[in-house]
Amino acid sequence: MSDAVLKDARTISSLVAKIGAVVGQRDRPLAFMEVCGTHTHAIASAGLRRLLPKGIRLVSGPGCPVCVTPVGYLDHAVALGSRPGTTLCTFGDLYRVPSSHGSLELLAASGGRVRIVYSARDSLDVARERPSEDVIFLSIGFETTTPTIAAVLEEAEREGLANFRILVGNKTIPSALRAIARDPETQLDGLLLPGHVSVITGWHVYRFLADELQLPAVVSGFAPAEITRAILELVQQATTGRAEVVNQYARVVTAEGNRVAQDLVDRYFEPADATWRGLGSITGSGLALREQWARRDAGRVDIEFPEPEEPAGCRCGDVLKGLIDPPQCPLFGTRCTPDAPVGACMVSSEGSCAAWYRHERLGLELPGRADTQQGG
Ligand code: SF4
Repeated sequence: MSDAVLKDARTISSLVAKIGAVVGQRDRPLAFMEVCGTHTHAIASAGLRRLLPKGIRLVSGPGCPVCVTPVGYLDHAVALGSRPGTTLCTFGDLYRVPSSHGSLELLAASGGRVRIVYSARDSLDVARERPSEDVIFLSIGFETTTPTIAAVLEEAEREGLANFRILVGNKTIPSALRAIARDPETQLDGLLLPGHVSVITGWHVYRFLADELQLPAVVSGFAPAEITRAILELVQQATTGRAEVVNQYARVVTAEGNRVAQDLVDRYFEPADATWRGLGSITGSGLALREQWARRDAGRVDIEFPEPEEPAGCRCGDVLKGLIDPPQCPLFGTRCTPDAPVGACMVSSEGSCAAWYRHERLGLELPGRADTQQGG
């Protein structure tokens, strides 16, 4: 073990001891939601849940873009991609997510043109290669991703690439957090705020959590010691009745965020209502292309697609609201695995079901043994 790793282990151990001393014995564990999919995986891969005292429950939130993309978006994409002369470009995670009656993967297997791209910019190359085709980028993601998509639109405009469009499914985190925090079912005691998203938005956009909803909140980095330190801050606030938004990721997150990226997004997009898997429609929590860019909007193509149907038995919605831990879904690890996923939360590398499957299954008796869960 290197000196750095040993130092980190000692830091985490000391922070966990402090958390234990502050949290004490409780009738109900303090429930903290990590909002970001990268935090979900960092927590799971470091085994932090097992290290923390029983008085703490960490629940995963809606911070995985693929997981919160509703089935209806995929149905829409499949319908667009089924038209002759159309090529869809998508990130790999979305490719395997079940739609109501298939998936992008199945569309490709049955002759549809679907290209997996590693960045939104790659889809411009596809549009250049296939000038006679309608090339549609499946645009999903949060504040971190949207500026790159706006930059791609800028490039398409500059170059006059008339055959490039996007199907907008982009979402914004603060409105979703407001909806979750207000939901009486969730009973949260604090939030671990997303580091990457906050680099763009700035931490001031979360002040409503403390000022209006009296919820402690901490912006944190992704190293296990940073996350553990953020949890200590949440515990200290929650046990003393304080509610503040604390920025512990100040080396990259500022109060106001990245103004250049915000302005670029603003040029192409405006706020819109959006449907989130599991959370339903949330006012102002999504983005739409401004009227000026209607020609870039694949959502305006006149096309019919079926009424969306969620995968039978999948409880992604309850997982995304933190109401259950993934192993409490009866399909977890049996009918639903990363190799044969039923729901989006098991497909995406940032999904909480995938994180639990990869890192937290040891000691669980599958399927879904209720007495091994941390709460629910
Ligand atoms: S384990 Fe699979 S079926 Fe169950 S909630 Fe997660 S993704 Fe859905």
